[in-house]
Amino acid sequence: MQVIETIEELQQILNRNERKDTTVGFVPTMGYLHEGHLSLVKHAKEQNDIVVMSIFVNPAQFGPGEDFESYPRDRERDIRLAREAGVDIVFIPSVEEMYPADGGIRILPGKQAHELCGAARPGHFDGVLKVVLKLFNIVDPDRSYFGLKDAQQLAIIETFVRDFNLRTAIVRVPIVREEDGLAKSSRNVNLTDSERSEAPVIYRALQFGASMFADGAHPETIEREVSEQIVSNSSGKIDYVNMLTYPELGLVTENTRDVILACAVKFSTTRLIDNIIMSTKGGTHVSNDDEQ
Ligand code: AMP
Repeated sequence: MQVIETIEELQQILNRNERKDTTVGFVPTMGYLHEGHLSLVKHAKEQNDIVVMSIFVNPAQFGPGEDFESYPRDRERDIRLAREAGVDIVFIPSVEEMYPADGGIRILPGKQAHELCGAARPGHFDGVLKVVLKLFNIVDPDRSYFGLKDAQQLAIIETFVRDFNLRTAIVRVPIVREEDGLAKSSRNVNLTDSERSEAPVIYRALQFGASMFADGAHPETIEREVSEQIVSNSSGKIDYVNMLTYPELGLVTENTRDVILACAVKFSTTRLIDNIIMSTKGGTHVSNDDEQ
């Protein structure tokens, strides 16, 4: 596995004229790798000749007072895990390499970014799209892999790729969970022991919400009940619990096909997100390989 730190070197290696028919699968991450990230790698390996992973904690997507500084980092462990997972090239740029001079140009996502985390974290998705566009231009991947853990991010990136005719295909990958149901996340390490033992309530509450939906309950009733279950069974504070159409992130109506029940919950300084996507045609409907 090659460990690359500069844009120039990576672009030389991945030059499209020279790589000819070799397909490149791309897995962008912020590191502190876990099985969720490694599942993206597994999908990418199955579908491409070369797998490129980026590890970059992107300052542009963190707001003032958010956890950019305390975001967990472990470069050597990440390199080892990436190598063991079969990544061919890991790209680990510095902040200066990615943003040597910031001309202040922003990419403004549309109404999908006004809901959920976009409402709770103003400017977050502007920063996500900025780094994603840079990385797509640097790597020029055939396919890029994103987890449904960050379902809103995935939906916005799909729109971005469509609206701007970006060359990469986007592949949705199902959420990987701990045995007790907690969605794997780099941030889980920042939970205290007692918060970690409470946190599985999030997925239990979402599952309860999903069963209410299957029984025909109204979205507002579901949102209220899921919030209530989380606050009455943990010290977590609700940032949001919302049920919307997916991937449009609009109001649920009689004609809606797929819905997302998504939440963000804060345990002292650690903010966790999770979701369930359901089809009104019955069952969960999540990824483009329909795995979950
Ligand atoms: P992050 O490093 O948290 O920015 O995540 C990098 C990529 O891994 C994103 O596409 C995430 O959606 C995905 N990811 C993170 N956690 C999980 C998980 N538990 N299951 C599946 N994908 C995940």
